[in-house]
Amino acid sequence: MTRDPVCGMSVDETETDYHTTYSGEKYSFCTNRCKQSFEHDPERYLAHIKAEGSDLRKVVVIGAGQVGSTYAFTLMNSGIVNHIVLVDTNRNLAEGNVMDLRHSLPFVSPVQIDVGSYEDCRDADLVVVTAGVSQKPGETRLDLVKKNAAIFGDIIPKIAAENPRIILIVTNPVDILTCVALKLSGYPMNRVFGTGTVLDTARFRSLLAKQCEVDSHNVHGFIIGEHGDSEVPVWSRLTVGGVSFDNYCSFCGLACGSNDRDELFGKVKNAAYEIIEKKGYTSYAISHALVRITGAILRDEHSILTVSSLLDGQYGVKDVCLSVPTIISKTGIIRILDLQLNESEERMFHESAKTLSGILRELDIQ
Ligand code: NAD
Repeated sequence: MTRDPVCGMSVDETETDYHTTYSGEKYSFCTNRCKQSFEHDPERYLAHIKAEGSDLRKVVVIGAGQVGSTYAFTLMNSGIVNHIVLVDTNRNLAEGNVMDLRHSLPFVSPVQIDVGSYEDCRDADLVVVTAGVSQKPGETRLDLVKKNAAIFGDIIPKIAAENPRIILIVTNPVDILTCVALKLSGYPMNRVFGTGTVLDTARFRSLLAKQCEVDSHNVHGFIIGEHGDSEVPVWSRLTVGGVSFDNYCSFCGLACGSNDRDELFGKVKNAAYEIIEKKGYTSYAISHALVRITGAILRDEHSILTVSSLLDGQYGVKDVCLSVPTIISKTGIIRILDLQLNESEERMFHESAKTLSGILRELDIQ
């Protein structure tokens, strides 16, 4: 077995038909598309392979605003990287944040923190995109789409030209912009994905844990679909300490009814609106969600997280980026899991996909 230098997936050189020779070395590919990309610009992919041989763990953050800077701070505290680079059109903001972060260095594990440019993406393990216009009070995420798609038209080709291993999208509307980034980068789908409903799932688990009076680590459940108004709570697969939620409710004694479920899900779905109304932005939980995803990638964890990625027929949905439980490792997306949904969850999921498909068609992305 060897690794396809373009998409990073394992490939059996005796099984595949796609090979090429460059500078006396033979390379094998899983698809003809990967082979053609390599032949078009071999040095771009080889630079990346050389960087992988080192133990450098480098993350570039595009957009040093509330989310980008709080993520950098949380990442620095986590000790899982040794180089963080902040890039922003507002250079003063990036410089101010880098100075402030660097002054914490005597208190944390060693890490290099710099202001940078797109060239810093060349040997990065991960580029996290938070750049864009943020959601204003009363504005839906989908209202933002045209403004942020235009910003992506500028930044994604510059990132992709440097061939970082993985591009992670945070900017909203995250599902649409993940599709936009995939198209603009020309990357295979395993290397571009969005934070999706990782944050919503954390909100769901933490609110349920409070209601059930248990530790949130013992609540296992998912929010799937759009990161936004049409997201779907998967009540039918929710467990508390391994017990199905329906069974758990029947003996826990707190006597919550189905209205409580609706109310709780309402709080999950509207959390961002409420927080933005009160403090102007959200930053802490999304930063922890980002560090969780970063760890899954850099430590090759094979963690199951509800990131947003391009579906290709799973759940009966095609050509739309949506969140479902997905295995994440150092090569990005390994596999999308097939979660069994009940009838109403499936209907809601398809509605979510339909809403996003309509927007992608308007943007001429599909
Ligand atoms: P912010 O306004 O504080 O920061 C955005 C930064 O992007 C600004 O510093 C701006 O100068 C920079 N920027 C704009 N255009 C740029 C470009 N072309 N190149 C480089 N930098 C550029 O906003 P924020 O609160 O940090 O939110 C950032 C994004 O993250 C928003 O779209 C927000 O909706 C989204 N968000 C997503 C989630 C999620 O779960 N996916 C959660 C929270 C926020």
